[in-house]
Amino acid sequence: AEPLLAVEGLETHFRSSARGPLIRAVDGVDLTLAAGEVLGLVGESGCGKTTTGKTVCRLIEPAAGRIRFEGQDITHLGRREMLPLRRRIQFVFQDPFASLNPRLRVGAILAAPFEIHKIAKGTELEDRVAALLRLVGLSPDAARRYPHEFSGGQRQRIGIARALALEPRLLIGDEPVAALDVSVQAQIINLLDRLRREQGLTYILISHNLAVVNHICDRVAVMYLGRIVEEGTRESIFFDAKHPYTQALLDAAPEPRPGARRRPEPIGGDPPSPAKPPSGCHFHPRCRHAMPRCRQEAPVLRDRGGGHRVACHLHPA
Ligand code: SF4
Repeated sequence: AEPLLAVEGLETHFRSSARGPLIRAVDGVDLTLAAGEVLGLVGESGCGKTTTGKTVCRLIEPAAGRIRFEGQDITHLGRREMLPLRRRIQFVFQDPFASLNPRLRVGAILAAPFEIHKIAKGTELEDRVAALLRLVGLSPDAARRYPHEFSGGQRQRIGIARALALEPRLLIGDEPVAALDVSVQAQIINLLDRLRREQGLTYILISHNLAVVNHICDRVAVMYLGRIVEEGTRESIFFDAKHPYTQALLDAAPEPRPGARRRPEPIGGDPPSPAKPPSGCHFHPRCRHAMPRCRQEAPVLRDRGGGHRVACHLHPA
């Protein structure tokens, strides 16, 4: 079957100023996502995971590559042509508060998508809003209140409700629980997990938190300086990581696997600037296993069997 989403050779470029250097925030990313799957996109801040997510749903223009969604090439669709697709792909922001208009009641915030797309009005609209609130575990009374009257976790529920209003197929969550207390994080992740099963949703979950990813994802892609360095099933990434960067990320996480009790070990060195990436393998200045070849030649992301893809000279195909 055709994947829900297929991304090939995706590149997104920026300049920090008109004469500044070209920054390849996304530098040749390939991804496929089957319907119903949850893909975790992980890596340190600045690795390009959020830009990848925003480019995939065309909030940012790609510089190169191809994006296919439900079999349709959406890479260069114009604003008007994108409108129906805006219903099918939704983005959930890290900070729900910043993305909810403080002057509007929650009812008006949730009604907006239905109004913009001319789907419902009057009592039907009110019923739809109430149903959305119930879906995310809030009382329909919430419609009469303002965003600031809610806790962080409740606000993220409202953000998720808004994203679900138009019955999307793909939800891209950008660190959707990072701003929340740990106990609330689990509640939101459980909500996303339930919604996925009940609504038949597909997710890309962008997160620096491996424990979150381990909880909900089927597959994980690890990014470093705009490139995917390793990708595989959740099990293969958490129990059989092959790329030294993935291994370092796991070692740096407080508790990536339940029960794995040990002291987290920070990754040596800082992430290099995307404006001046190291030659060859971008990770070589921080890699314990770096060889002379690593400075010269960029490793290619290759399948090492069973869809476990690795880009490292230690692991020849
Ligand atoms: Fe380390 Fe070389 Fe592999 Fe890069 S290619 S991760 S530098 S061993």
